Amino acid sequence: MKKIALLGGTGSIGVQTIDVIKEHPEQFELYAFAFGSNIEQALPIIENLKPKFIVVKNHAIKDKLSNKMSYNASISYGVEAINEMVSLPEIDIVVNAVLGSVGLQPTLQAIRSGKSIAFANKETLVTAGHLVMKEANAHQVELLPVDSEHAAIHQSLKGEQRNEIKRILLTASGGSFRDKTRNELVGVTKQDALKHPNWSMGAKITIDSATMMNKGLEVIEAHWLFDVPYDKIEVIMHEESVIHSMVEYLDRSVMAQLGTPDMRIPIQYALTYPNRFPYQLSDSLDLAEIGTLHFREMSFERYPCLKMAYEAGRIGGSLPTVLNAANEEAVALFLDDQITFLEIEQLIELQLEKHETVKDPDLETIITIDEEIRRNVRRDVLKR
Ligand code: NDP
Ligand code: MG
Repeated sequence: MKKIALLGGTGSIGVQTIDVIKEHPEQFELYAFAFGSNIEQALPIIENLKPKFIVVKNHAIKDKLSNKMSYNASISYGVEAINEMVSLPEIDIVVNAVLGSVGLQPTLQAIRSGKSIAFANKETLVTAGHLVMKEANAHQVELLPVDSEHAAIHQSLKGEQRNEIKRILLTASGGSFRDKTRNELVGVTKQDALKHPNWSMGAKITIDSATMMNKGLEVIEAHWLFDVPYDKIEVIMHEESVIHSMVEYLDRSVMAQLGTPDMRIPIQYALTYPNRFPYQLSDSLDLAEIGTLHFREMSFERYPCLKMAYEAGRIGGSLPTVLNAANEEAVALFLDDQITFLEIEQLIELQLEKHETVKDPDLETIITIDEEIRRNVRRDVLKR
């Protein structure tokens, strides 16, 4: 029986993790559960699986939740409490499915406590990959990727040596606006942006898919997770999201992992690794029914966010922190109807241009820069 601490349990990945836990009650126990403020989503999960430790965003949510619960559990709030939660000696695996760089400190804490981590929270690796991987190596903790592309690469890499990799091929569906030209992006709405053709995901990552920033964040995530330089990481458009990513080796053999676009499959694999359990929540991939798979070259002109991410990743230092913070803030503003779709990339570009890169930033510097960039983006929008 694996005891699980789930961070971000009310989100898209969180709820799908609950599906997987419920499918295998003899294997998994939801021991600890953290979420932000969505009590409506959290309460049925909590009442059903009765985690012993719960962490929420603030005091008010804590009071509200404890009034509604039918059993006794430890309830606390704030990032410090999440840090304590992931260090509980009973816990075997931490699922990090929170959104954004708030996941950074709990990730470092979980690593220092020697916990396995099923890792969805890509913003954390983008903002501070060098710190996270240094701690992971020092504590011999493996980050098990939940992101479908990285789960595919992880599986395609089994048993091979890093110096035998020719390149990693990340597949990209193209997001909700893949058939639009740049001119046609003027005036697109939030509702249109939120309609992803293949995947059902949280709002932020769905917008990131439409701008292609999601793939940019994933390029940086792949660089850190698999210790592969940026010139060996390529992105290719693949409409159907059936091939989740590939690894080409020196002998030009290409290994790929395929599957239906269902995040619960990589979530389950991260939880059962290195084993595989049966999966009943969706059908087998029906290639005869799909018939054809399509591929297209990626265009950096069409998707400048991808280009910015490669550049920030290559330069490194504090620049990926800037990229991530500006993006998180700009997407939040877009989702709040304060800016247009094309302003997202403009706001990020402005912050990247203005920033003087700090080499090898420590945690404090990263937190300071993250906050500063968020303020700058908000100020730029108010000034318009
Ligand atoms: P959602 O927005 O659906 O969920 C985010 C979760 O984080 C919610 O449970 C939210 O709580 C919680 N949260 C946010 N802020 C805090 C906080 N300060 N303290 C505690 N909890 C907090 O996001 P997704 O599930 O879509 O994405 C989560 C991560 O997984 C992201 O990094 C994303 O890039 C990655 N990912 C997602 C995929 C997907 O299919 N959705 C695919 C691959 C990667 P609440 O809502 O209760 O406030
Ligand atoms: Mg992905």
